[in-house]
Amino acid sequence: MMSTLISWGSRERTKCITTKEIEDMEVGMASQNMLHMNSGVGDKSYAHNSFFQKNAIIKAKPILEESMTRLYYNILPKCLKVADLGCSSGPNTLQVISNIINIVDTTSSNLNLSLPDFQFYLNDLFESDFNTIFKSLPQFYKTLEGKKGNKIGPCFINATPGTFYKRLFPTSSMHFFHCSYSLHWLSQSPEELTIDGGGAVERDSIYLTSTSPIAMQKAYLGQFQRNLKAFLKSRSEELVTGGEMVLTFIGRQNNTSEIRATWNLLGLALNEMLSENLIEKETLKSFNIPNYDPSMEEVKEIIEEEGSFILHRVETMWMGWHGNMMNNEEGANGNQLDENVTGEFIAKYIRAVTEPLLKAHFGQRIMDELFLRFKDKVAQLIRDIQILEFPNFIVSLIKSA
Ligand code: SAH
Repeated sequence: MMSTLISWGSRERTKCITTKEIEDMEVGMASQNMLHMNSGVGDKSYAHNSFFQKNAIIKAKPILEESMTRLYYNILPKCLKVADLGCSSGPNTLQVISNIINIVDTTSSNLNLSLPDFQFYLNDLFESDFNTIFKSLPQFYKTLEGKKGNKIGPCFINATPGTFYKRLFPTSSMHFFHCSYSLHWLSQSPEELTIDGGGAVERDSIYLTSTSPIAMQKAYLGQFQRNLKAFLKSRSEELVTGGEMVLTFIGRQNNTSEIRATWNLLGLALNEMLSENLIEKETLKSFNIPNYDPSMEEVKEIIEEEGSFILHRVETMWMGWHGNMMNNEEGANGNQLDENVTGEFIAKYIRAVTEPLLKAHFGQRIMDELFLRFKDKVAQLIRDIQILEFPNFIVSLIKSA
């Protein structure tokens, strides 16, 4: 087993500790900093397990088209500046860029104008794996030139790391923001639920359940409200007059306290592991998923209260948990897939999304076991319920004058 030298402060006390001890020390540490998707291009990476989110991008395309066409037509910028917020690592963000270029290409052809220069900013948290996207850029530029030939002018793709709950760009410098499948992530678990925050509010699970105490529901909603307001304020300061945004995120039906079943199953798997002494009670008690699925009413209220944007269009689309399986051949042929195959597929993309967060809190050692149990629970739920769906909101916003 590898060992590492660490030193404590000025007295230069040194001690040999093992990598397992380091992992134990890290377990339970500020897991919010660890929110990012699995990096690289391997079997467990987000890049290879994000067809589901790609499906959301495809479904939101008509709204993107409407918003981008209007924006381009109204502003006719020489250089169109667009950011994809919460871009993650993998092909989806490049799909968004490509969609936007195509929309602007069609609009400028209709207007008999040449294409503008493009400047795209890819944003995600500092820990995110931007390098995987950078490495795919040469091929992306090549394909773009192949498709558009001389027609396409300069297209610059930059990275802007940092949280989108704060300012990311200069005042009045941006035309358009796109943000898909990212806004349901909170900047942190509600403080009232954490030990640091006094743990004043009673909690019954790693996320809200239908029986969660009202105070816990309020704590989550409060965190979402603060986050979304900060997001809207920052973006409104960064957008030029007439600037627009299209946001897609997971929601829940109005007036229900219905919770996302994925977190429920993950919570059940963790509880099971607790009862078998595979994880510690205190470790589980101090873990909350920093995620909130708002109702459309809650979202509308926040947008209205914050006041920087006019809500132009809202759509709800229902997506099955296995929504992206159509990307592989079996799904595309419309075959009924075995629950275990579907369970495995769902477990893989949930793992790609949550593993860094869970690993930082519970340690790498339990990950395989946890997701094996999670997969079995998903398969069982499919056998019991058959259809697993949840609503997604696509919201198009225009900066108020
Ligand atoms: N838009 C991509 C990725 C969605 S996954 C797609 O559609 O495939 C959600 C991403 O949002 C993750 O990469 C996560 O790191 C990022 N994210 C979550 N909170 C964020 C924040 N506060 N600021 C920036 N990015 C954030």
